[in-house]
Amino acid sequence: MILDTEIKGQLEEYLKLMENEVLIRVSLGNDDVSRDMADLMKELISMSPKIKVEEASLARTPSFSLNRPGEDTGIVFAGIPLGHEFTSFVLALLQVSGRAPKIDSQLAQKIRNIKGNYSFETYVSLTCHNCPEVVQALNIMSVLNPNITHTMVEGGAYREEVESKDIMAVPSVYLNGEFFESGRMELEQILERLDVSADASEFSDKEPFDVLVVGGGPSGASAAIYAARKGIRTGIVAERFGGQVRDTLGIENFISVKYTEGPKLADSLEEHVKDYDVDIMKLRRAVRLEKKDLIEVELDNGAVLRSKTVILSTGARWRNVGAPGEIEFKNKGVAYCPHCDGPLFKGKHVAVIGGGNSGVEAAIDLAGVAAHVTVLEFMPELKADAVLQQRLNSLPNTTVLKNVQTKEITGTDKVNGITYVERDTQVENHIELEGVFVQIGLIANTEWLDGTVERNRIGEIIVDGHNATSIPGVFAAGDCTNSPYKQIIISMGSGANAALSAFDYLIRN
Ligand SMILES: Cc1cc2nc3c(=O)[nH]c(=O)nc-3n(C[C@H](O)[C@H](O)[C@H](O)COP(=O)(O)OP(=O)(O)OC[C@H]3O[C@@H](n4cnc5c(N)ncnc54)[C@H](O)[C@@H]3O)c2cc1C
Repeated sequence: MILDTEIKGQLEEYLKLMENEVLIRVSLGNDDVSRDMADLMKELISMSPKIKVEEASLARTPSFSLNRPGEDTGIVFAGIPLGHEFTSFVLALLQVSGRAPKIDSQLAQKIRNIKGNYSFETYVSLTCHNCPEVVQALNIMSVLNPNITHTMVEGGAYREEVESKDIMAVPSVYLNGEFFESGRMELEQILERLDVSADASEFSDKEPFDVLVVGGGPSGASAAIYAARKGIRTGIVAERFGGQVRDTLGIENFISVKYTEGPKLADSLEEHVKDYDVDIMKLRRAVRLEKKDLIEVELDNGAVLRSKTVILSTGARWRNVGAPGEIEFKNKGVAYCPHCDGPLFKGKHVAVIGGGNSGVEAAIDLAGVAAHVTVLEFMPELKADAVLQQRLNSLPNTTVLKNVQTKEITGTDKVNGITYVERDTQVENHIELEGVFVQIGLIANTEWLDGTVERNRIGEIIVDGHNATSIPGVFAAGDCTNSPYKQIIISMGSGANAALSAFDYLIRN
């Protein structure tokens, strides 16, 4: 039995939601994955009379496509979509059966209007929590537009193909055979990348806002909701709604919620903001701020928004180690997300740069799949919590190097090693390996504010107890500020504080 009892129970419930018949065309060989896929097909047929299966010869074996009778939708799963891709499979099945995808009607129309042929392939691992969003977005595009096809390729079942393409990060998307993009992407981002999304004119003629929030992570979402609840004209510009939360797997310290997952919390943040009268401008980056009579915020598409007050909540991003080779080999052996890309380094030797909590957690995680993990820590001691260090030390396939500096990540077309210097003796060493995970903390997204609000030595915006910055009417909240601790709940609190302070400022001025 390929599906365990719990998954089978869930699937049975979902299959009841199918509207019309779906024809699954399956291409099978003599390998183990084909046998499992054949078992999956048998179980599906036994669970719903609306599912029909026929053997076919598809571009990849083993694989299967989901179709309406008499009409190919272009959705193919090469490999078995269990693990994190199980939801992608269920949603695709329901959408092909006739249930409308849950997206804005405007967005759906935009997809239907796309001209030309687009054949997408997405390489995934079943443990990658960033992959389903991309797979689901491309499946929706494929369901809505007959000129768009999408194949999910499961890296474990297609190891040779993955290696021949030198894919070292998932999701990796190819379009018409050429590399398109890697990493998490929302539907709107894919449309933007295809150049079929909103243009500047959609944003430029807006009336001034009372409060304009820049950033759509926990602090920005909280600020927008608090502002909108005061009944004032509120807008939010967010390059990637959800912020860092989208890259987080398990969250256990969001008080009153014992356990949740990042993408789920990120979706709830957006849902909650949408409940209010907030003008949401997604996938746009602020590039300039200037205080005139009103405060102006210029976006990367040239549109200029005006507002009486602004709340900066642009958060933070992974810090680069800055060594030669890091940028050149990004996604070719240099990675930042152990949960996503770890499985691609199965049986290989990898390094983790950074011995804080995230570095040591990554090393523990990677030790489960990689042949060997070397942790490189710049300081004489690891900074991770004692319990994590004990766990790391108990693993036989890990080595910790302390007081060392990464000199270079080496490689030809992909990473083949790392060179480091022992800081006390200046002795240089080289380790041959295939992957380097950089885990050395975060840096505030505030470069675009050069010459405007006051920031500290490490680029964080300096705020007072009201979250006010050095410019009257401009407030800041969350990880982009000099708040000593960076956490979801703290960001949300400061977003609320900033919005209430902005409201107070509006009343007084
Ligand atoms: C892997 C990982 C795991 C974590 N785990 C936890 C945890 O378990 N519990 C916990 O409490 N915290 C956790 N954190 C920390 C937590 O995610 C952050 O403290 C929180 O997300 C900060 O929220 P924020 O809104 O200030 O910034 P962010 O979440 O960084 O959001 C910033 C927003 O601003 C946008 N943006 C950036 N620049 C611009 C620009 N120029 N124009 C427009 N928009 C812009 C971004 O796209 C994003 O929407 C984790 C962080 C990481 C990376």
